[in-house]
Amino acid sequence: MSMNESLQIRTFKKVGHIEVICGSMFSGKTEELIRRIRRAEIAKQRVKVFKPKIDNRYSEFSIVSHNEQSYPSEVVEKAEDILEKSFDAEVIGIDEAQFFDNELVEVCQTLADTGKRVIVAGLDQDYKAKPFEPMPQLLAVAEYITKTLAVCVVCGAPANRTHRVTEDTDRVVVGGENIYEARCRLHHIVKE
Ligand code: ADP
Ligand code: MG
Repeated sequence: MSMNESLQIRTFKKVGHIEVICGSMFSGKTEELIRRIRRAEIAKQRVKVFKPKIDNRYSEFSIVSHNEQSYPSEVVEKAEDILEKSFDAEVIGIDEAQFFDNELVEVCQTLADTGKRVIVAGLDQDYKAKPFEPMPQLLAVAEYITKTLAVCVVCGAPANRTHRVTEDTDRVVVGGENIYEARCRLHHIVKE
């Protein structure tokens, strides 16, 4: 490497990236997102957290994990709203990514291209164990991927699926322990 090149590299803009945290419900995605965001805050980085409008289960103003940890967040109606609200942030957290449309992929790419660290958490499978868009597309373009596992409520094995207790057949039914259970491959009932 020439002197010029090495100098160029050292003066390069910050390189951004995408981190995806995915898994079933109750697997600790939100918990892990909050942990990473808090660490970024300790590092004195400017942080911004978003969630889709559809998820107001626990709070309008924060992301909340099933073990009652929370972090302030802003609700956005569509993925592209995240762009204009993130211009001064260095680290961007996005929870419940499966409730956004495919536009989210381009939004995350643009943020990462402009030097930001983007941490996205979301369900990788729906209650039928089918890939939940736009998570597969995000997983394909991410630099880092973490797959979290819950505990199967039937047998205690690591669980990577979400069982819906009710008979509802819509893909999106927002709910918690009243509607969903974490289940392993063996105890997950695939409903048609
Ligand atoms: P996610 O965002 O993936 O739905 P959360 O981060 O909100 O998960 O919640 C994780 C927490 O849920 C765990 O730390 C644990 O306290 C609680 N929990 C409840 N049921 C289960 C389960 N079946 N398996 C694992 N954790 C569970
Ligand atoms: Mg969550």
